[in-house]
Amino acid sequence: MDARKIRLAYLNFFEKRGHKIIPRALLVPQNDPTTLFTGSGMQPLIPFLLGEEHPQGNRLTNSQTCLRSQDIEEIGDNRHTTFFEMLGNWSLGDYFKKDQIKWFFEFLTKEVGLDPNRIYITCFIGDSKHKIPKDEVSAGIWADLFKKANIDYAQAEIGSEEEGYQEGTKGARILYYSDKNWWSRSGKPDDMPLNEPGGPDTEVFYLFPQVEHNPKYGPNCHFNCDCGRYIELGNSVFMEYLKTSDGFIKLPKQNVDYGGGLERISAAAINSPDVFKISLLYPIIQKLELLSSKSYESETNSMRIIADHLRGAVFLAIDGVVPSNKEQGYVMRRLLRRAIRFSFNLGIEDKFISEISQLILSLYEPDYSEIKDSKQKVIEVLEKEENIFRQTLRKGLRELNKLENKGLSGADLFKLQDTFGFPYELSLEEAFSRDIKLKADYREEYLDLLEQQRKRSQTATKGTFKGGLGGQTLIHKKYHTATHLMYQALREVLGEHVVQHGSNITEERLRFDFSHPEKMTKDQIARVEKIVNDQIDKDLVITWEEHDTKEAMNKLHALGAFGDRYGQKVKVYRMQAKGSLKPFSLEICGGPHVEHTAILKENSKKFKILKEESSSSGIRRIKAALI
Ligand code: ATP
Ligand code: MG
Repeated sequence: MDARKIRLAYLNFFEKRGHKIIPRALLVPQNDPTTLFTGSGMQPLIPFLLGEEHPQGNRLTNSQTCLRSQDIEEIGDNRHTTFFEMLGNWSLGDYFKKDQIKWFFEFLTKEVGLDPNRIYITCFIGDSKHKIPKDEVSAGIWADLFKKANIDYAQAEIGSEEEGYQEGTKGARILYYSDKNWWSRSGKPDDMPLNEPGGPDTEVFYLFPQVEHNPKYGPNCHFNCDCGRYIELGNSVFMEYLKTSDGFIKLPKQNVDYGGGLERISAAAINSPDVFKISLLYPIIQKLELLSSKSYESETNSMRIIADHLRGAVFLAIDGVVPSNKEQGYVMRRLLRRAIRFSFNLGIEDKFISEISQLILSLYEPDYSEIKDSKQKVIEVLEKEENIFRQTLRKGLRELNKLENKGLSGADLFKLQDTFGFPYELSLEEAFSRDIKLKADYREEYLDLLEQQRKRSQTATKGTFKGGLGGQTLIHKKYHTATHLMYQALREVLGEHVVQHGSNITEERLRFDFSHPEKMTKDQIARVEKIVNDQIDKDLVITWEEHDTKEAMNKLHALGAFGDRYGQKVKVYRMQAKGSLKPFSLEICGGPHVEHTAILKENSKKFKILKEESSSSGIRRIKAALI
């Protein structure tokens, strides 16, 4: 089975077992300003794993596009990519260990056809301090499955990775580890705050006997060894416990969260320990061989990095990110620039991003319907960055060469970035690979200059408008208030994925950009208008309070705008009907607003959406007015 077939087979397998296939979340989390990217299938589902009811029921499955910028350093090994797809299935208080383990084993061995003899398992060893038992239930279920398949299932305890390197696998198929096999949002049991759920997990590894253990990692190999002989395919978390002042107690509703790498399972299916050999990645490698007239065998590292980074950048572009100097845009820029830098190693001197991106898009287009409409834009965005950077790279490298003998200071690194657009990390990589000396305090000096620059630019923007508000006349205030009402109404009609991506107000209208994958229907537009007009009629009272930013987001769930950076404290605007217990809208915002919504009816009859159109990939734009 190739990767596309495996993705489909997985979703079908779980659909047949009562799961609803839910759409993927975008790579940029829509309601979680604490992380830059969606890095697992579980992340967008956290509220539901914590008890909120999911509209699609309690058995869910999908293939979630993930980006882990923290894995960028690992690119070049046989099993990590920055972008990857995580196959997921979830039980929200429904089935538990028995079904989950049985199904996953069945999927791997029956559907994908993996050799059960090469499957190895880890389970949680228990925690005596917190009286959490060893997860013998999971291990027992695995043991039964192996027994039925006539496979030995010896068990042993390892505890830590260090012990693993000392003692090897002890001949076991099922190994108990400690914290590696415990999941909670805050890590091991000891580090969890009270009232936090957590539980054991069980991980599945596949043995690639053709990979020899590399003693650089430790004297002996074990399942969690980093040499790449055993590769983790997937991992089932069992949310089983709650930490309380009386210790760990069983949760009334226990959940399953499973995540497995599509790329890795696909690699196992073709008996390749190298994920870059799968059907969604190897065509990119082959294209690079063609363009460079070099072989993958001789240029493995550079080709893996280029293929990985461009695939990541393409998906970021599909999801509406553009290269910039901050946050998601910066990571995208870094991916693109690194890819170009490594193309120089292959001797590719000409522009090549458009060609490779088209290939990547064609690999995913059959399964990602959003690509059809966005591909032109995606290629434009990537090509533009390539044009800018090719010039930068030449100038930057020239500048670096000049500094080669005298060593690099933080000021040099800052200048390279600020004046020549040559990213800090790239300068460091160049320095390391060419043995250019770095001054002892280069990092502090660089950060210091960066901070000074940040302060300068803050001063420069002070006095310009806040909160998308161009002026403070009454009509501006009215449109600002209408914007909040509409934002909330859009989320009620279209869903929680709607996040503000920009707002602009003139005397004539409001303009509002937001994430949503498709054109709104007439009916949806009418419903949004009705909700806004109803709220105007209800004459909601508008007040604001100051809150701790974290509290505003995590406790009050106040809405914010994509990409906004907040300080320690924020103003939260509340729009609430008199006598009602719940606000209609809670939003982080600088203000100002009118005092109550009926003011919006002064001099106009109603709120109306004038236009709904595409703004950029995955982003819609509404213009609306009080007419
Ligand atoms: P590893 O230790 O190999 O980095 P992980 O513990 O970070 O894996 P999880 O966070 O449990 O992995 O993610 C679930 C699954 O997603 C993994 O079992 C693996 O199949 C896949 N996965 C995780 N990170 C990557 C990556 N960078 N590239 C490809 N697949 C990945
Ligand atoms: Mg990892």
